[in-house]
Amino acid sequence: MGGGQQVHGRRVLWTRRPSKNPEGAPGTDGAATDRRGLALRVFTADCAPVLLADGRKRALALVHAGWRGAANGILGRAVKLLERKAGVGPKDLWMVVGPCIHQCCYEVGGDVARCFPRNTTGGPDKFFLDLPGALAEQAKVLGVSPRKIFLAPHCTVCDRRFFSFRREKTESRQAAVAAFRQL
Ligand SMILES: [Zn+2]
Repeated sequence: MGGGQQVHGRRVLWTRRPSKNPEGAPGTDGAATDRRGLALRVFTADCAPVLLADGRKRALALVHAGWRGAANGILGRAVKLLERKAGVGPKDLWMVVGPCIHQCCYEVGGDVARCFPRNTTGGPDKFFLDLPGALAEQAKVLGVSPRKIFLAPHCTVCDRRFFSFRREKTESRQAAVAAFRQL
């Protein structure tokens, strides 16, 4: 298993072996690999788990993105890392955004709204951010094909099957795990 400690930054770790640190690599918010059978994981409770993967080269990245990570460009980091290390271009990538806080529940201030002018509604002092929409938008700008982008319909705040930090200040987290099978 490989993963990051999750600090809402934009560092993505390239890894080819299981992490010795159960907490994940310090100072990172995601990991990428082209090693088959190596599972990546992220923990979330309202932030979005985002998978980027190419089935031909069997390379993938799994990152944790809230508004801060998205504004800091974590998706771009993951896409560029896959290109540089595994030779996977953005056109080859599939993207899945897992359950996370949706626009119905993601009230943000003007400072956050300003980072995502095309994916917020409301105002002048109360805004709602469409986090999956913002991530999809960023992916398209990075060159990922819209037909390869999938957004899970679940809002982690509305849907009580999920842990939600915003709803209950929980310490619990969803785990997203992804790997290519070792053939
Ligand atoms: Zn909701």
